[in-house]
Amino acid sequence: MKIGVLALQGAVAEHIRSIEWAGAEGVAVKRTEQLDELDGLIIPGGESTTIGKLMRKYGFIDAIRQFASEGKALFGTCAGLIVLAKSIEGGEEPHLGLMDITVSRNAFGRQRESFETDLDVKGIDNPVRAVFIRAPLITKTEAGVEVLSTYKDEVVTARQGKLLVSSFHPELTDDYSLHKYFLDMINGG
Ligand code: GLN
Repeated sequence: MKIGVLALQGAVAEHIRSIEWAGAEGVAVKRTEQLDELDGLIIPGGESTTIGKLMRKYGFIDAIRQFASEGKALFGTCAGLIVLAKSIEGGEEPHLGLMDITVSRNAFGRQRESFETDLDVKGIDNPVRAVFIRAPLITKTEAGVEVLSTYKDEVVTARQGKLLVSSFHPELTDDYSLHKYFLDMINGG
């Protein structure tokens, strides 16, 4: 199985490493043509406005919408979650707008900009080590979206068909269980 990591900005190398630990091949994606050879794509954390701008510039908005319409899987982490959301609080234009969720950017506020915790995630037996960095929250989920984990009653991991999102960075620790979950999801799990 071959998984791409969108390499326009953000934490790319760490995702590739986690994907390889989980048992698939990971590649950095810089051109839309590369999507043809992939089973799934990760949109990493970073800065969603910058990633969105670069996606528009290099033709990734239409190319990834097409990729998703072919039933291929997407995994958005942190800024990648914002990029996948149908609606962004505060009136900001959505980017891919593929997932039926509303997100609030930088929702944890200044005092708790960054922190690390263990989360219970539905479908994963062990607690998942999660690193939150200026993380977004999912403030609304529509029918068809399954909540996989919460932190202090706020939704931080969710799935809709072959779309997976997390508010946190699962690639910044040596716990690759969410990457493994993504691979199982592609295999029909
Ligand atoms: N706060 C960033 C944004 O709004 C996301 C932060 C992250 O990806 N770690 O894009």
